[in-house]
Amino acid sequence: MAAYNVIESTRSQGACSRVAADCEVAIVGAGPYGLSAAAHLKSKGISVRVFGEPMEFWGSKMPEGMLLRSPRVASNLSDPGHVFTLDAYEQASKIEPCAPLPLDTFVAYGRWFRHQLGEDLDTRNVSSVHRDSPGFRVVLNDGSEIRANRVVVAAGIGQFKKKPLVFESLPSAHVSHCYEGRSVRKFDKQRVAVIGAGQSALESAALLHEAGAEVELMVRRPELRWIGQHKWLHNMGPISSMLYSSHDVGPAGISRLVAYPRITSRIPLKLRDRIRTRAVKPGGSRWLPERLATVKTTTGRSVRKADVVGNEVSLTLDDGTERRVDHVMLGTGYRVDISAYEFLPAQLVADIQQFDGYPKLTRGFRCSVPGLHFVGATAARSFGPLLYFVAGTDFASKELVRSL
Ligand SMILES: Cc1cc2nc3c(=O)[nH]c(=O)nc-3n(C[C@H](O)[C@H](O)[C@H](O)COP(=O)(O)OP(=O)(O)OC[C@H]3O[C@@H](n4cnc5c(N)ncnc54)[C@H](O)[C@@H]3O)c2cc1C
Repeated sequence: MAAYNVIESTRSQGACSRVAADCEVAIVGAGPYGLSAAAHLKSKGISVRVFGEPMEFWGSKMPEGMLLRSPRVASNLSDPGHVFTLDAYEQASKIEPCAPLPLDTFVAYGRWFRHQLGEDLDTRNVSSVHRDSPGFRVVLNDGSEIRANRVVVAAGIGQFKKKPLVFESLPSAHVSHCYEGRSVRKFDKQRVAVIGAGQSALESAALLHEAGAEVELMVRRPELRWIGQHKWLHNMGPISSMLYSSHDVGPAGISRLVAYPRITSRIPLKLRDRIRTRAVKPGGSRWLPERLATVKTTTGRSVRKADVVGNEVSLTLDDGTERRVDHVMLGTGYRVDISAYEFLPAQLVADIQQFDGYPKLTRGFRCSVPGLHFVGATAARSFGPLLYFVAGTDFASKELVRSL
């Protein structure tokens, strides 16, 4: 590996400023995927820089009080020696292990993991990534630049929020996404309509209700779906192990298959897509029905019209009934579309072969632009639904190292 320790000067906003040393790999995003990839690359002596505030998405966007849906064993970030595990963090911090895992523990664990990596994390955000010769020029939010031979995009789903058209005209004071801010307490005594049937919507409805809001959950499907209802299927010893992997992504059988992303990547796209969508079908964790028991729930209905009337929002449902609320909370999921990453210039995005917004990836999480890699949710169309979850960090990091 060549040494990349050249300190350069660059002109930024008219001033001559020193910029950081170049590196072999620049990672955009310091969430579970970015941090795990860095741990693996570093262990092989590859010079790597990770950009972004560690665990920013989990620490500042997810609702406070949230519990992780993934089991503890599937909530470990990945390092080559499996040393910096959740258990190790809890032991080091004298925290009693518990399940389901509270959000704050997971965020603190991620930040502790980051400290084990040393000094290669730079909390500045990446403003843009440009092809250079060789490699890439990475511009940071303070105007300085670094050069990297490779770029790994590990920027998560924060920029892919889906907002159904009917809510487009509502001002942000009246509508927000479930993962757009931490505080649920500010909705105390307010009337909030929560839209959606997935874990984010259902858990947000429970948290808002517990924080004193008057909640109505509005769901298009005829009934709510709960994950892990067939508990007996998980309690059959070796037979259960044949049906489910420890990651617990997807139903019996599919769970086993998607635990092997390399095999999943070889399945024809049409079938792979069916497996992927089945594995992440919207539903709530088994600890939610009790918490939602007294929350007003309207199923089988969708919102046709949403208008601001005075200080309220008027929602008209498809059965013609109207609701007046103070706020609409969207748990309507996200849609991967790499063109929504503001740090990727349009020309670069255009050069990346895609499946409707997902980059087409081959071994080593490489896209069609040499030296550019994508990990996390953006890789799920190529490598299957495990990549939507923290559980996929181990495979992704090892695969990256192998390819480099
Ligand atoms: C409500 C909710 C609940 C979830 N629960 C679970 C769960 O229980 N278990 C599970 O496994 N998964 C869960 N997920 C999925 C979760 O998003 C992923 O598992 C996980 O975040 C993947 O890690 P990541 O590193 O790809 O993305 P992220 O955790 O989103 O990390 C990416 C980071 O990149 C940063 N970034 C973005 N752009 C830039 C830039 N230009 N410069 C620098 N940094 C940048 C972001 O700020 C972010 O911190 C949940 C998702 C949601 C929305």
